[in-house]
Amino acid sequence: MSHGSFNAYKMAQEQFTNIANKLGLDQATIDLLNNTEREFSFNIPIRMDDGTYKVFRGFRVHHNDARGPCKGGIRFHPQETVDTVRALSMWMTWKTAVVDIPLGGGKGGVICDPQNLSSHEQEQICRGWVRQMARMVGPIQDVPAPDVLTTGQHMIWMLDEYEKMTGMKYPGFITGKPVGMGGSLGRTEATGYGVIYTLREALDQIGLDINKTTASVQGFGNVAKYAIELYTEMGGKVIAVSSWNHVEQRAYTFKKETGIAFQDLESITNKFGEVDVEKAKQNGYEVLDGSAWIEQNVDILIPAALENQINKETVIKIQDKVKLIVEGANGPTTPEADEVINAKGILCIPDFLANAGGVTCSYFEQVQNNTNYYWPKEEVIEKLDKKMTDAYKAVAHVAHGKGLSMRDAAYVISIQRVVEACKMRGWV
Ligand code: NAD
Repeated sequence: MSHGSFNAYKMAQEQFTNIANKLGLDQATIDLLNNTEREFSFNIPIRMDDGTYKVFRGFRVHHNDARGPCKGGIRFHPQETVDTVRALSMWMTWKTAVVDIPLGGGKGGVICDPQNLSSHEQEQICRGWVRQMARMVGPIQDVPAPDVLTTGQHMIWMLDEYEKMTGMKYPGFITGKPVGMGGSLGRTEATGYGVIYTLREALDQIGLDINKTTASVQGFGNVAKYAIELYTEMGGKVIAVSSWNHVEQRAYTFKKETGIAFQDLESITNKFGEVDVEKAKQNGYEVLDGSAWIEQNVDILIPAALENQINKETVIKIQDKVKLIVEGANGPTTPEADEVINAKGILCIPDFLANAGGVTCSYFEQVQNNTNYYWPKEEVIEKLDKKMTDAYKAVAHVAHGKGLSMRDAAYVISIQRVVEACKMRGWV
């Protein structure tokens, strides 16, 4: 999504070249990985409910598939841009590599606002997206998934269109499907839980007892909700949560010093993760400006909404008490803000490590689809915890050994794995 002059792709490229130079990569390898492998940009014409026709713009970008089929979500958003999709596809390459699953990086999107489209109109967009991309996606080429403002229902419409076109059953074509329709138990919780597994390991590393910690969270959607649920279950206290209000086109922060009960906040939240302001006031929340989540006097900040939220203007609002930032969202911190965070000695768990639980569980979903045998939830969660914990420890080990930030260490591991695959294939 675009926000003023912020360009997520430039930021992703800057992060990559910074490490590529540190690793001394040759120019051809830099050129290969600093650009996307292939891109698709297309029209999706649909007939609206009122009988008129409207054309939506769709995208799919493959950043790199040297380690396996591309993997990445499809976003529906009115401010979607091809550069955001490019950046997200690049981060998917690093994400699948850091948790060491045999997949590459891709991402997709459609410029549209599902909150102002009927269910039937959304279904037409899903089916239109698949008709345009059918030759270049599939279980052994590129596997889409839900992302911002797309759901399991969208995935089923897409799957159905793909299966109609191919005349076969391919549950592994897409992940994030509802349970019972080829989805994996635990997928809904996976990203948020994964965020907290890395947070748990980080607290252990810096010697903080989770029971004595407080946190402030940006977002109350899929990632944030399950992160809050598990963090509070483990003994932590969330005192502030911010969410978007699409009617007023602004964000609000909901605060309770005594701690936010997850179910209470969820009971006054719509399906898009927007908290009802009036009901929040009635339920005893202090209602503050949307930006207030970042200036709370807490131990932990969890940005779990959008990119570019911790930038050179907002980073200075972070209180001295903050010891840990866990990036639930993709690209929430700009490189300039990163420098300030590192200088302050705050431990920051980078997005493509912290939120890799979703893609890890999507991979588990595909494995279950391909074997046509479904695991109990405990097994999924246990495997997820192990993958996330192992990945965290490997990154922390490199960070400690080489004197790098967690972000740079995660990049070093991922880039080295992807470069090795490209070189073994003889691409560069
Ligand atoms: P979602 O659509 O379920 O929720 C987004 C939340 O952010 C909502 O609560 C919304 O109100 C809030 N929000 C939007 N704009 C805001 C603003 N300006 N200020 C405060 N809150 C705002 O999305 P999600 O699936 O939870 O994804 C959130 C982030 O995590 C995105 O960056 C996404 O790419 C990333 N991510 C998601 C997954 C996943 O499995 N869902 C996996 C990896 C990364």
